[in-house]
Amino acid sequence: MSENKHRDRIAQLAKSLYDRQLTFGSSGNISFKLDDGWLMTPTGSSMGDIDPARISKLDSAGVWVNGDKPTKESFLHMAMYQERSRAGAVIHLHSTHSVAVSCLHDVNSDNVLPPLTAYYVMRIGQLPLIPYYAPGDVNLAEAVREMASRHHAVLLANHGPIVAGASLEDAVYATEELEETAKLFLLLRDKKIKPLDELQVRELNEKFPVNC
Ligand code: ZN
Repeated sequence: MSENKHRDRIAQLAKSLYDRQLTFGSSGNISFKLDDGWLMTPTGSSMGDIDPARISKLDSAGVWVNGDKPTKESFLHMAMYQERSRAGAVIHLHSTHSVAVSCLHDVNSDNVLPPLTAYYVMRIGQLPLIPYYAPGDVNLAEAVREMASRHHAVLLANHGPIVAGASLEDAVYATEELEETAKLFLLLRDKKIKPLDELQVRELNEKFPVNC
């Protein structure tokens, strides 16, 4: 596919996420790996109204070469790509239910959400919580890098998820699966739940290993 087709697809999927209120205002960003660098949604842009021609392009060294200036959160994406060579796209959202879960004080920070459904296990699996850092704190990149070497999806405390996928579609579907599972988790909070057991999770992990 040509670079322009990828630009169009990023804008389409960004609008779809925005229209379904998975992101709002100027929050959220998408990046996509090209043969010669990356495409990244621009800083200050609304995901509901991305102009494909103005999507930022970074060269293979991560230097901005054309389009509008990339998102201020580009370092989160680059930390993920540096650790995961098979990642083809990365999505970061401030999606409401995922952020809500990231603000709870009594979650397991090694794995925030229980394995409620098979699709969650297949698309996300384990989800570590990265402690809170103020916007722009360089230590956040280091914390993400450390977790990204072992996990394609992480949740930033009091902030939101970062999810890598082998393709743009994979990253979008995984992010949506995470958001819906966070919603289910909150719906079920005061109820006795029966998540998948260890054997069921292990069987899914063996049959559907993470591909990015
Ligand atoms: Zn953010």
